[in-house]
Amino acid sequence: MNQSFLSLGTNIEPRYEHLTNALKILEQNEYISIRGKSSIYETAPVGYTDQEDFLNMVVEISTSLSSFDLLSYCQYIENELGRVRNIRFGPRTIDLDILTFNHENSTVDSLQIPHPRMHERAFVLIPFAEIAPQMMVPTLEKSVEQLLKELHESDVKGVRKWVQDKGKKG
Ligand code: AMP
Repeated sequence: MNQSFLSLGTNIEPRYEHLTNALKILEQNEYISIRGKSSIYETAPVGYTDQEDFLNMVVEISTSLSSFDLLSYCQYIENELGRVRNIRFGPRTIDLDILTFNHENSTVDSLQIPHPRMHERAFVLIPFAEIAPQMMVPTLEKSVEQLLKELHESDVKGVRKWVQDKGKKG
């Protein structure tokens, strides 16, 4: 069985529904089991900043799929939830990234693991550290907690725990 951590993000309403639908479709795959879920965080956009805030979370899964089949399934979920790829790093219904896959290292363009930008993203490291602080990230050879400590305070500040408004979805 393989262990993998995935990052999920969305900034198009209804954001909460997009996250829960993505988790539902993940669980529908008989070769994937969700083992852990972080809290949901709300994050100011980085890069292309003229867009709405994101909801982000990290999940731990076990799977008998290969890393490439897992990537295909993540892309299937993105398509199912109607992601439109207009602006790189722009608004998205749902984005799924493979952060780690066992302790493997893959450098082909279509699948880079560990995810090449995860160590600089507070919206990945904060939820990741919540569920697996001691996890050693391959090639960087540092724990998730250590990577988080190395981030600038200004990056960390933009990520806050999200509490769902009663009576309001999104
Ligand atoms: P994005 O628009 O950021 O979701 O990037 C999607 C593209 O990144 C796809 O073509 C994937 O093949 C590629 N990719 C490379 N490494 C990864 C990874 N670890 N997780 C998800 N997509 C990846």
